[in-house]
This record gives sequence, C-alpha cells and structure tokens, in this order.
Amino acid sequence: MDSKPLKFIADAMLGRLARWLRILGCDVVYEPFISDDDLIAKAIHEHRIILTMDRRLTERESAKNSLLIKSPDYKEQLKHVIAYYTIDCKSGIFTRCLLCNTRLDTIDKEQIKDKVPPYVYSTQHEFDICQQCHRLYWSGTHRTKMLEMLDQILK
Ligand SMILES: [Zn+2]
Repeated sequence: MDSKPLKFIADAMLGRLARWLRILGCDVVYEPFISDDDLIAKAIHEHRIILTMDRRLTERESAKNSLLIKSPDYKEQLKHVIAYYTIDCKSGIFTRCLLCNTRLDTIDKEQIKDKVPPYVYSTQHEFDICQQCHRLYWSGTHRTKMLEMLDQILK
C-alpha cells in the first residue's frame, strides 16, 4: 500500500460522490463553483487526483492525474473509485467532516452538553468535533444507515 493517503478534488457534478468519499475518511476537495482552470491548478498544487465527468478536462495535459467518472449514479461512481484506487473503506470511516473535509477530533462529552439534543446526550458516549466548522458528530441511526448503504454499494 502507498503510505501517503490519496487526496482528491471532485468536479461540480460529483457532490454525492465527494460526500461518500469523505464518509470513508478520504480527503476530498469539493468546490462546485470553481473554474476548470482553478480546479486543475489546485489539484497540481495540492497533489490531488481529479475526479470528473468531463472527458475534455481529463484530456488536458495538465490534468493527467485524473479519473474520468462515467456513471451518473453515485453508487456506481463510488464503487468505481474504491475499486480503482483500492480504497480501504473501514479504517478511516467517520473520521472526516462531511461539510468541510477537516479531520475530526474526539471531544469530551461534558464539553458539548448544551450543544446536542438531550436524548442524544443521554444515549451516546463518544463525540467528535470538527475544529474548523464546529459541527459535532456521533454514532446513531444515521451512521447505521450509511453502513448499510455502503454494504449494499460494495456487494
Ligand atoms: Zn467541518
């Protein structure tokens, strides 16, 4: 295995794919309003693989480090990327902020008492926080659903 984790940048068409890759813990930049030129520049500068549905973009000399995504279905897209780059779906799952792509940190339960619904506070024990956008994450039915969906996708 490559010791450096893969980093991606996804084009505007691939929002759901970007979100799912973040669920798996992948570092994915997703800026839907970025221009093609800026997207390529950022990919080169930050050593990111470009994920795109735009064939012409992948044919540009400067965008060689890219993967053309053909399916319009995000489940197929995810399957494709996972298989192509042999992404480990288990070790990094739920470690990244789905909104801003930052790695999550664990946070003491006492510190977030007033910031989550009482039911969540009384039933959950482990919480993660995004230091960038301050969103809180915890296990629960939404994560169970994501895992079920992932099993289905990878089947
Ligand atoms: Zn965040």
